[in-house]
Amino acid sequence: MRPTGKLHLGHLTGALENWVALQGEYQNYHLIADYHALTTNPDTSDIYQNSIDMLIDWLAAGIDPLKSPVFRQSQIKEHTELHLIFSMLVTTARLERNPSLKEQIRDLQLDTIAYGHLGYPVLQAADILLYKAEVVPVGEDQLPHIEITREIARHFNSQYTPKDPVFPEPEGKVTKFARLPGLDGKRMSKSVGNTILLSDSPEVIMKKTKSALTDPQKIRKGDPGHPDICLIFAYHNKFNVPEVGEIRKGCESGSLGCVDCKMKCGTRIAEALAPMREKRRYYESRMDEVKSVLLEGENKARLVAQGTMAQVRSVMGIG
Ligand code: SF4
Repeated sequence: MRPTGKLHLGHLTGALENWVALQGEYQNYHLIADYHALTTNPDTSDIYQNSIDMLIDWLAAGIDPLKSPVFRQSQIKEHTELHLIFSMLVTTARLERNPSLKEQIRDLQLDTIAYGHLGYPVLQAADILLYKAEVVPVGEDQLPHIEITREIARHFNSQYTPKDPVFPEPEGKVTKFARLPGLDGKRMSKSVGNTILLSDSPEVIMKKTKSALTDPQKIRKGDPGHPDICLIFAYHNKFNVPEVGEIRKGCESGSLGCVDCKMKCGTRIAEALAPMREKRRYYESRMDEVKSVLLEGENKARLVAQGTMAQVRSVMGIG
């Protein structure tokens, strides 16, 4: 995950909940992708603080660093080394066909692209294969990157070690979740300012839910509404499961007004996030502990990465 600072509900439902669940099933590695962050924001003045803020949200959401090392990409030099080797094994034409490159060009309104954009999946392949990952939890839109990783692994193995492959061909494990819309109904994104942060206080959550867009045809209590097009209903679906049936009925019949519905919604979200806020407070008052979690994670990850690179150099006959 790129270090964008404090995380929001979209990160919780789109990634964190899944990562926490996978902890019981796999040995996980969680990368703070600070080099990848440079592709969308070359300003590094906040990158350290953003990494720490994101890490605290990971810990607050239930990532157990003893089971699952957490580390910064920039602190494990082997990522850049393997990226260089992998960059010889993939053509620019292949990278230009990557659908997320086209999306980035459109979203960031780029006139020209840096190699960092083109080579993003190559660095990502190094991130994955350094740890010989067999499974990568991803959103559907990231599957093309996993395909590039698989191709690079295959190419490396057949070039240097056809009889005894160094790298597995990892599978993308698609996270199934109903994407939570932002407060304006669009994709939840910090840059748009339509998020509820995991660290928001109950007061802020109430204020934000109050301002959310709802069904435009339901102007006053009494008007029948359409819950399936209302983002507040999507939040109820996630955070207020026992009451969704009743809310649907109330909305459709007009007996429930949007103001009351939003109040209920804000209350449930605030309740759901309370344990995370509590944990966040714990870590915020123990920054030494947070830093040592990171350093320990980096030491563990570095050992694995160094082992893989020793193997890579050996089969290549380099060094
Ligand atoms: S009553 Fe609730 S679900 Fe229905 S439109 Fe209003 S906020 Fe949305």
